[in-house]
Amino acid sequence: MPQLLNPFARPGRWYRGVFHCHSTNSDGDRPVESVIAWYAEQGYDVVAITDHNQMTRVPDPRRDRPLVIPGTEVDVGRTRLGEPYHILGIGLRQMIDLPRDVAARHGLDVQAVIEALRKAAATVFVAHPYWSGLVVEDLLPLHGVAGIEVFNANTEVDIGKGYSGVHWDDCLSRGKLLLGAANDDAHWRLRDYGRAWTMLRLESLTPQAVAEALGTGAFYASTGAVLENVAFDGATVAVRIPPPGAAEVRFICDRRWGQRVVAEGPPLERATYSLRGREKFVRIEIITPSGEQAWTNPLFLER
Ligand SMILES: [Zn+2]
Ligand SMILES: [Zn+2]
Repeated sequence: MPQLLNPFARPGRWYRGVFHCHSTNSDGDRPVESVIAWYAEQGYDVVAITDHNQMTRVPDPRRDRPLVIPGTEVDVGRTRLGEPYHILGIGLRQMIDLPRDVAARHGLDVQAVIEALRKAAATVFVAHPYWSGLVVEDLLPLHGVAGIEVFNANTEVDIGKGYSGVHWDDCLSRGKLLLGAANDDAHWRLRDYGRAWTMLRLESLTPQAVAEALGTGAFYASTGAVLENVAFDGATVAVRIPPPGAAEVRFICDRRWGQRVVAEGPPLERATYSLRGREKFVRIEIITPSGEQAWTNPLFLER
């Protein structure tokens, strides 16, 4: 069984990051200094500013917390339903060449733009697939994409389309490995900040370590729920949840495999799932008694 990286089995500690947000340099309502100050006050460890089709200059990364890394969100290409993809390039070294004209940008080949972002050292994620109206056929042919946003707070608050779990599972079911991050995508007009983040397992907080963790799956996504441990021995998955525990734990697999464990009395502090042997992947979702969620990356994937 081709097991994937389990960040809980990795040395280091957890760092809280958000890798998609906007400033007044594009369509956000806060200047970049205020964006960074807000995340600093909330105790975030790492923030990527991803203004649309540009790279916002960020302070010296050697400054104190949070570590601020440059990024961008590019609307490019045309999906099956005729909408552009929103592609996140996190940690890019310099901005890629893009036409300013919207129609010209949407006429570009999305794969070429992904490759340009990768060449500029970025880790690439597809933002908010559900909100963008993406179908799985839009995601399957892409190369060089680390993952998708399984949850995006802005599009959830906006029109209730922040959760892209079905897109994710559809790709995984077809053997397409994509990781699942969660981000605010804060524009600072709606209450779209401080609602979704990504917990990275790092030995030290550097731009290189962040890029490596985002690219390899050394993280889990959260809207507030915390995971204490995930263990997987190839046959059984065991998850531990610190107080206040979970109202529900879902072991999500392809087709009808998997299991939902619901707290019958006090909240769950642990749950386990024994593989039946035919699953192509397993990932974990938890829901706390107050409705906060967390999502692990898949623990293995048959291709
Ligand atoms: Zn977007
Ligand atoms: Zn955005």
